[in-house]
Amino acid sequence: MNAELMTVAYIGATILFILSLGGLSNPETSRRGNLFGIIGMSIAVIATLMGPRITGVSSFASILIAMTVGGSVGIFAAIRVKMTQMPELVALMHSLVGLAACLVGFANFIDPSSHFTGSEKTIHEIEIYVGILIGAITFSGSLVAFGKLSGKIGGQPLLLPARHLLNLGLLVTVIIAGRSFLDAGSIEQGLVPLYLMTVIALLFGIHMVIAIGGADMPVVVSMLNSYSGWAASATGFMLSNDLLIVVGALVGSSGAILSYIMCRAMNRHFFAVIAGGFGTGGGKAPAAGGDAAPQGEVQPINAADTAELLRNAESVIIVPGYGMAVAQAQHTVCEITKILREKGINVRFGIHPVAGRMPGHMNVLLAEARVPYDIVLEMDELNQDFPKTDVTMVIGANDIVNPAAQDNPNSPIAGMPVLEVWKAKTSIVMKRSMASGYAGVDNPLFYKENNRMLFGDAKKMLDEVLISLAK
Ligand code: NDP
Repeated sequence: MNAELMTVAYIGATILFILSLGGLSNPETSRRGNLFGIIGMSIAVIATLMGPRITGVSSFASILIAMTVGGSVGIFAAIRVKMTQMPELVALMHSLVGLAACLVGFANFIDPSSHFTGSEKTIHEIEIYVGILIGAITFSGSLVAFGKLSGKIGGQPLLLPARHLLNLGLLVTVIIAGRSFLDAGSIEQGLVPLYLMTVIALLFGIHMVIAIGGADMPVVVSMLNSYSGWAASATGFMLSNDLLIVVGALVGSSGAILSYIMCRAMNRHFFAVIAGGFGTGGGKAPAAGGDAAPQGEVQPINAADTAELLRNAESVIIVPGYGMAVAQAQHTVCEITKILREKGINVRFGIHPVAGRMPGHMNVLLAEARVPYDIVLEMDELNQDFPKTDVTMVIGANDIVNPAAQDNPNSPIAGMPVLEVWKAKTSIVMKRSMASGYAGVDNPLFYKENNRMLFGDAKKMLDEVLISLAK
């Protein structure tokens, strides 16, 4: 394939990626969006393999071998991973993009066939330096995010003393090392500041993510998504590959927009996130039983009484959370919804932007169970309707329905917008115990007078509710 044809293929792939992003922004068009993405990526890979830069059978074969090994690992991981582990897998994938950017950067720098001179050489070296910098931050930051999301590293933020000063010191060292990298007279000389900067960037990535509180991890996941895009874009500059530059920029900017949306949903400041050390909230979780522990009495309910309450309601709002994903209860929820709607009850779903463990988690599960899209509403579309609602059914959700976010300024989740389920006539919370959610915060909702607790695995309890409703 000659260079012109390859450019045409790259433009086609770029258009498909843009259409893919457009499609993915709506549940109804997301399948099509995915398909566009798959076709675009296939075109991109084939055009690159057939393009003028891959010369000789040996380089073609080595790429094929690498693709087969990488692809097999990817397929194996994707098949094995549970839906609830998806954010961890995504964080791991981001770390690989970062690692790839670092390796490409080093390979580019030590490449003996490199023929850049003068200002071209300087620009190329800046690309390498910045590419490795972003790549190393993405790599180590994503690994820490993986550790936190999978529970291998504690969710509590780790704050070093004078961390902002430390970050500033690291930044200044990176700039000074960058200067001496550009001034280096040989590859050996240049490698010293390059290694130094890489180590600093790796430490910075760890420091940035480890300082972030558990409840704020959703923003970090999408921030790292954005960083991985910029790392890919930097790799594109190093390799003079226009498609990689554009695709990286698409991922980088869409990740940044998503982070901004998540920040707004959690009442956080975007720039504070970029600076790292975000989400410590200034408060701490109230100790169970301590002064700050919620007051009141917990009132359990059984499945039959839950069914009775639902049957007698005119309007019901269902709020799903992480526990619904763990229990895989979405299909039973859909069955219950069908029965209630057949009885003329107005049933709607309230989706919090950070419900579950990844953006759009609940939407994906409900779509999989074929819950109609038009009754699945965002938090902002529905929050004012709770006072007019008879029953809210909270299924395995906790932090996203915690009134402490509004009432307790010292709470680690203070200021985070929540679904005001307690404003309905009756709220029913379905979970296995009184345990806290992801943020590790007590939930005063459980003790409210109009709240009932349906204890048990969400799938098991909903099956029982379904049987009672069908009677
Ligand atoms: P939470 O993690 O706050 O609460 C989930 C609740 O589900 C738990 O309290 C648990 O209680 C219950 N649960 C677990 N398993 C089951 C089961 N089998 N049956 C019934 N209940 C079960 O989830 P939310 O969705 O309310 O909030 C999401 C949290 O995750 C937020 O803090 C958010 O910041 C964070 N997060 C979100 C990400 C995103 O992108 N969406 C990414 C990373 C973190 P019990 O053990 O008693 O059953």
